[in-house]
Amino acid sequence: MDYEPVIGLEIHVQIKTRTKMFTAAPYAYGAAPNTLTDAVVLGLPGTLPVLNHTAIEKCAQLGLMLQCEIAEVCKWDRKNYFYPDSPKNYQLTQNEQPLCIGGKVEIELPGPSRNVEGEHRWVTLNRIHLEEDPGKLTHESFETVIDFNRAGVPLAEIVTEPDLYSSTEAVSFLNALRQLIVYAGISDCDMEKGQMRCDANVSLRPKGTDTLGTRTEMKNLNSISNVRAAIEYEIRRQTEILEDGGSILQETRRWDAAKSESFSLRSKEEAHDYRYFPDPDLMPVLFPRERVTELGAELPERPLDRQRRYQKDFELPYTLTSVLCPERELCEFFEAALLEHSAPKAIANYIANDLLRELAEASEHGQSALSISQCPLTPAHIASLVRVIDEGVISKQIGKEVFSEMFRTGNMPEVIIEEKGLKQSNDSGEIEALCQAAIAGNAKAVAQYKEGNAKALNALKGPVMKATKGKANPAMLDQVLRKLIDEG
Ligand code: ADP
Ligand code: MG
Repeated sequence: MDYEPVIGLEIHVQIKTRTKMFTAAPYAYGAAPNTLTDAVVLGLPGTLPVLNHTAIEKCAQLGLMLQCEIAEVCKWDRKNYFYPDSPKNYQLTQNEQPLCIGGKVEIELPGPSRNVEGEHRWVTLNRIHLEEDPGKLTHESFETVIDFNRAGVPLAEIVTEPDLYSSTEAVSFLNALRQLIVYAGISDCDMEKGQMRCDANVSLRPKGTDTLGTRTEMKNLNSISNVRAAIEYEIRRQTEILEDGGSILQETRRWDAAKSESFSLRSKEEAHDYRYFPDPDLMPVLFPRERVTELGAELPERPLDRQRRYQKDFELPYTLTSVLCPERELCEFFEAALLEHSAPKAIANYIANDLLRELAEASEHGQSALSISQCPLTPAHIASLVRVIDEGVISKQIGKEVFSEMFRTGNMPEVIIEEKGLKQSNDSGEIEALCQAAIAGNAKAVAQYKEGNAKALNALKGPVMKATKGKANPAMLDQVLRKLIDEG
């Protein structure tokens, strides 16, 4: 029998706030263990939680970015469990009435090749709720240590419907989700720093049926490649069991990245095991509709909407939009340059190719990766460079040289062109003389050109460009050569 995998993801995202979800203790990644705590975080008797409004508003913005409905009223529940990562013995979360309801995310599946756009589809979300992060346990050889710095950090848990059907779709979804979250400034989603973590639920069902099979849940997937590997492993494992006539046990499994396999942690807990009940110390939260509208208005255009707009309005090819649009800063840089000189294709090309290459190379020389915000160039640099090329002051070829120099020195292109004497030669007398010399020196190329081989002209252009150090106006050069040969 053929089986179809069905996957649902639960993604925890740390919301970027200065302080924790229910107290003013600060949070910063990498601080010395247990230095960012207070009595509330440690669950000392007599302490009371105080809501972090920024966290709630940012979570609502996340919901709007993911096209959820924002609940008029949400409330807080205690999820009770006994484990050393939670000093209160319960986690504050939203079980019954989450802040964000439903939602959907547009994803692009991989195309037939990197340069070709893939199919798009929508993935349905179930909800997004807010909760507090537990502490971080580290298991060492003979002991387990705990760091409460992370405890109490606001977490948004995004829950999808079981609406993904392969590991590839799950990966496309996570990439799309990450772009949306980073775009909206909710989190940097650095998985290595635990800012984004993913649990994957996987089940199989006979192809063509639509009831859900028994699922298992994989925990501890802290990179996109782990998500892919764990889902593929689980699909293989469940297929083997079902093909042998066995049945799947509903359980929680832990992915071991070093061994590339998962093992059973515990049989899956049910909601009633947590004895959820409303937190008596926290009031329900009323979310005014006007505020929802205001928060929505602050959000940026979604990356795939922007990509469609760039393709339509600027006629940019997919190869450029697929580089620019996933990154909001690149798009903003591009749009700022366009305001100075309206040449979308050339500007997009310089950003997507030359600029990104230089930024990558700069980071290879021992420095940490340069982002566009640390770039020595401004949008005005790129706009001016494209303008002087469009105006025929320099050739495209010299443009590349000016670009590198601009990146190195931070000087504007006009300054570099002046200093280095790079102005294109539009001196038709000089070009004509050099062309005559080239024609006289390469009878073979001339003959080939006359026989209809237009490419043979390049062999004649070479020496002229060399003599002018690349400064001959290419259009003029082409025209003069053709004229001289046709007439001669
Ligand atoms: P819990 O919170 O106990 O893990 P939920 O019912 O909230 O359970 O579901 C969690 C995730 O599991 C959701 O992303 C959901 O889409 C997914 N899921 C539920 N049932 C299945 C199934 N049979 N196969 C695959 N994924 C599933
Ligand atoms: Mg779960």
